[in-house]
Amino acid sequence: MTSRSFLRLALAGAVASGAVLLATLPADASKAPRTVPVRLLALNDFHGNLEPPTGSSGRMVDENGQTVDAGGAAYVATHMKALANKNTIAVAQGDLIGATPLISAAYHDEPSVEFMDKLGLKVAAVGNHEFDEGYAELRRIMDGGCHPVDGCSPAGPWKGAKFDYVGANVLFKNRNEKTDALAALGGSNSAQVKQVLSDWGVPALPPVSIKWMNGVPVGFIGLVTQTTPSIVTGEGIKDLKFVDEVKAANVASKLLKLVGVKAQVVLMHEGDQVNAGQSPDACSAVPGAGNRIATQVDPEIDIVLSGHSHQAYLCKVKDPAGNDRVYSQGGSFGRVITQVDLNVNLKTRDIERSSVVADNHVVTRTVTPDPEISTFVQTWKDRVAPVANKAVGKITADITNTAAPSGESALGDLIADSQLAATKTGGNAQIALMNPGGVRASLTYATSPANEGDGVVTYGEAFTVQPFNNLMQVVTLTGAQLKTVLEQQFTGGPNNQAFTKILQPSSNFTYTYSRSAAWGSKVSNMKIDGVPVTDTQSIRVAANNFLVGGGDAFAAFKDGTDLWSGPLDIDAFVEQLGKDNPIAPPATNRITAVD
Ligand SMILES: [Zn+2]
Repeated sequence: MTSRSFLRLALAGAVASGAVLLATLPADASKAPRTVPVRLLALNDFHGNLEPPTGSSGRMVDENGQTVDAGGAAYVATHMKALANKNTIAVAQGDLIGATPLISAAYHDEPSVEFMDKLGLKVAAVGNHEFDEGYAELRRIMDGGCHPVDGCSPAGPWKGAKFDYVGANVLFKNRNEKTDALAALGGSNSAQVKQVLSDWGVPALPPVSIKWMNGVPVGFIGLVTQTTPSIVTGEGIKDLKFVDEVKAANVASKLLKLVGVKAQVVLMHEGDQVNAGQSPDACSAVPGAGNRIATQVDPEIDIVLSGHSHQAYLCKVKDPAGNDRVYSQGGSFGRVITQVDLNVNLKTRDIERSSVVADNHVVTRTVTPDPEISTFVQTWKDRVAPVANKAVGKITADITNTAAPSGESALGDLIADSQLAATKTGGNAQIALMNPGGVRASLTYATSPANEGDGVVTYGEAFTVQPFNNLMQVVTLTGAQLKTVLEQQFTGGPNNQAFTKILQPSSNFTYTYSRSAAWGSKVSNMKIDGVPVTDTQSIRVAANNFLVGGGDAFAAFKDGTDLWSGPLDIDAFVEQLGKDNPIAPPATNRITAVD
C-alpha cells in the first residue's frame, strides 16, 4: 500500500468514527478525547475438546450458581458468533492442543488448530501443552508441513495455523541469531531494540503480535508458565529456556512501546485456583503464581488474560502504578468465553482503563450448535471411529483415578501393573511407578455409547486415560535412590514439590509412609515381592519418559543409570486391558499411610 492510500484509509476511518460520535454525544463533547471500541473474546485450555466434554469436565457453574452442561466446538462457535461484533479480536491463552481426546490427538491436533482458525482466532499464547510433542512439532503446527513420522492427515498437507502463537519468555538457550529483522521494526528506535535483545536473549517464538482494530494497534504479549520444563518431557525442549514471566513481559512491553504500541494485553498461560462453586464472574481466585504476574508486570500493560489452572474468574488487581487492571481466566475445555470490552484513545493510542469491562460467558448447550462446525467435527469423528470404537478389554466395575487416603488409586495401580508387564522382558524391570497426574480420566463401566452398560472398554476410552504418547523406560536405581524418589513425593523437601504427588506402584512393590515424620524419613518398609529393599541393592524401575526425565519435580529419577526405552504407555495399557478379562478394580493396598 502506498503512503497516500494509507493516509486516505486512515482519514476515512477517522471520519467514520467521528460521525458516530457526533450522532451519539452532546454537542460540547467534541473536545472530549475520542476513542474507538475494541472487544476481545478469549478462550484458554481448550485441550482439543471438539466434541462436548463429558462428566465433570463438561459441567460448569454459571452466573446464577447453577451447574450446567457446557463446552463442545459447535457450541463454542455459536456463542462466539453471538458475542462477536465488528470490533472483535479473538485471542487465547494456551493449551489449545496437547493432552487432547483421540479425535484430535490421532492427527497431531491439526483438527483443533483448524477449528481455532475457523473461529477466527488471531493470537494465542503458547501453553505448556503446546510443547508436549516438542518445539519442532510446535513449529510445524505454526508453520505447516506434514508430520515427519505419520505423514499427512486425511485432510491433506497441513498449511499451518492462521493465528499467531506468541511466547515472550521462551528463549533459545544458546543461539546468536541475527536480531536485525526485529530491530528494523523499531525504525528510528532500532538501536534501542537491538540493545534490549542483546541484554535479554533470542526469542524462540514471536514474543508479541500486533493487531490493528479501528485504526489503532493493540499489542498482545504471550507468556507461558516458567515451570514448563518440570511438566513437559525434557527432550523436546532441550534447546529452550523458560524465563521469569514478569521480566519477559516487561521487555516485550518496552519493545511494543518503542514501536508505538501502547494498548497492551498479556495473554498468559499461568493462573490461580478459585474457591469452589463460585460464579465465573467472581474474583474468587486465591492469589498465587498468576496473581504475582498480573500485579507485577509493567503499568503500560492494561489487561492480563490467564489460563493453565482451568478455573474461571474475573478480578481487578492493582498494577505497580496503582491503577486497576483486569485479570481473568475462562475455565477450560471450551466451557467459558471471556469477553473484554475496552476503549482506545485515538490520541494517546492507549487503553482507557476506566472503560475496561469484562464478562465470563458459559458456553451452554441450550443454543443451536453451529452447523458448519458440527459437520467439521463429524468428519473427524468418522475418520477416527474405526480406531476409537475398537473394543480392547472388559471391566467388572468402574476403575477410577480417585485417590484412596494413601494417595493410591485403583486405576493408577492398574496402569503401573501394565507398565511393569510391558517392560519386564526387554528392560528387565522389577517394579513400576506411575505419576498420578498422568492418569487423566477414569474408566467407567457404562460410558462407551456403542456398548452401554456392558463394561466394554474401547481404545478411545483407554486413550482418554493415557493420552500423552509417553514412552516407557527403565532405569537402575539403588535402594537408597528409590527411597529418595519416594521422599520427593512430599512437600517440604529441597526438590520444591508444590503438593504431595503419590506415585502409583505396581502390585509387587509395597512400602509405608508417615505423614508426621520429617521430610527425608517419611518412607520405610520398602519391599519388592515381599523381600525388604536394601540401600545398596540395584533395582530396575520402570516409569514413563516424563518421570524418568525428572518430571513433576522427581529429580532423583535423573540419577538412574542403564536407560532402556520400550513401548508407548498407551500400548502397554491397552495390552493389559486385553488380559484377564473382565478386569476387577485392583485393591489400593500397596501403600500403607500412617499418621
Ligand atoms: Zn497448562
